[in-house]
Amino acid sequence: MTDLASHYDVVCVGGAMMGSAVAYFLSENPDFDGSVLVVEPDWTYDLAATTRAQNSIREQFTNPLNIEMSQFATTFIAEFHDNVEVEGDAPELNFRGTGYMFIADTDELYSQLEREADGQLAMGAEVEMLRPSDIAERFPYMDADQLVGARLGGMREGSFDGWAFFQGMRRRAMHNGVTYLKDRVVGIDRSGSRVTSVRLQSGRTVSCGYAVNAAGCRAKVIADMVDVALPVEPRSRTSFVFDCRTPIEQNVPLTVTPVGVHFRKEQTHFMCGAVPKRDVAVGYDDLSVRYEEFDEQIWPTVAHYVPQFDQIGVVTAWGGQYDYNTLDQNLIIGASSQVENFLFASGFSGHGLQQGPAVGRGVSELITYGHFRTLDLSPLGYGRIERNEPIVEHAVI
Ligand SMILES: Cc1cc2nc3c(=O)[nH]c(=O)nc-3n(C[C@H](O)[C@H](O)[C@H](O)COP(=O)(O)OP(=O)(O)OC[C@H]3O[C@@H](n4cnc5c(N)ncnc54)[C@H](O)[C@@H]3O)c2cc1C
Repeated sequence: MTDLASHYDVVCVGGAMMGSAVAYFLSENPDFDGSVLVVEPDWTYDLAATTRAQNSIREQFTNPLNIEMSQFATTFIAEFHDNVEVEGDAPELNFRGTGYMFIADTDELYSQLEREADGQLAMGAEVEMLRPSDIAERFPYMDADQLVGARLGGMREGSFDGWAFFQGMRRRAMHNGVTYLKDRVVGIDRSGSRVTSVRLQSGRTVSCGYAVNAAGCRAKVIADMVDVALPVEPRSRTSFVFDCRTPIEQNVPLTVTPVGVHFRKEQTHFMCGAVPKRDVAVGYDDLSVRYEEFDEQIWPTVAHYVPQFDQIGVVTAWGGQYDYNTLDQNLIIGASSQVENFLFASGFSGHGLQQGPAVGRGVSELITYGHFRTLDLSPLGYGRIERNEPIVEHAVI
């Protein structure tokens, strides 16, 4: 059994991407000298969204804060080895720049993508608008006749090894003195506007200065323990890898179709996914593969835009869940007005892996300084839930 202190300054509930990012940034912050405990029941992370993700990063959001968070992750990725090395050793991220390509088949959608591009360019993102002749020239496997145009991102967008990404932070955090405990939080004690301790499945209790809700799809279960409402529910997302009889030699950006079906190259295969036709809350343990999505939604769509995808076959598939924020499909960070030392890092709705570094840094600043110091993430705070004021982000995939 891991030796436990009776008190930790910070307890992270969940130790995948968000719990590890918070632990990493706290333990790297020279102004923070407290103790950190990360409670995580499953050290294989087999069921966590973090290990079931499609591991991609983009600048093409429409909310400036989402762009800035990804840009911070881009820098973090570029300096990954130095950021997480322990005694000269760091996991390899194998970042592959491919760009994302949002394709449009109507004038209206093209104009929308173009308007959004103005905002993205103003934020320093690398994006360009393409017409069908450009698409035919640069991506000859596409049936450009089906398109009015596209918005293409630069090589800072792409994919990487998500396991290495969070394990690097986890390992460095442990090296810095963070305690990881294999256990489950089963209760949180609250006295007035403060949480005082977390209760563990093993029967132990530790008191805490802060508790951070990094429990992913189960964030609402944890929020319920302190009687704070959280509009986050698990929603099924299946990932498929398919093989194409005629290989494509060119770069295949992560291509987002107008109906939300997306695909990208993954080594010699292709990875893809779709928004389920009935996109509703599912059970926490429901990680089943929705094979019908491939036959009914994905295959017809990808074959429509890429004729040689007429002849494809599924190589493998796995189920996953988005921690879906039903208010506005974006991150909720920080405390509610009801409990001042219970902090959320929840509700990522499909783009949390790339937001891990910015969120970890942001939560560490809230704990260390009482406010955000670098990137002001307060518009993404819990206050908008209390006011029922969604933030606007058009590019949720
Ligand atoms: C199919 C799919 C594709 C995705 N693709 C991308 C992508 O391309 N790019 C991107 O940026 N993001 C992507 N995401 C989103 C990203 O994976 C998540 O936003 C991110 O991993 C969330 O990390 P997390 O730590 O909050 O949650 P999780 O990874 O789910 O981790 C939560 C952890 O909390 C633990 N936990 C739960 N209950 C308790 C408890 N009571 N006590 C202690 N611990 C507990 C769990 O065991 C788990 O390890 C994708 C997600 C899915 C499902």
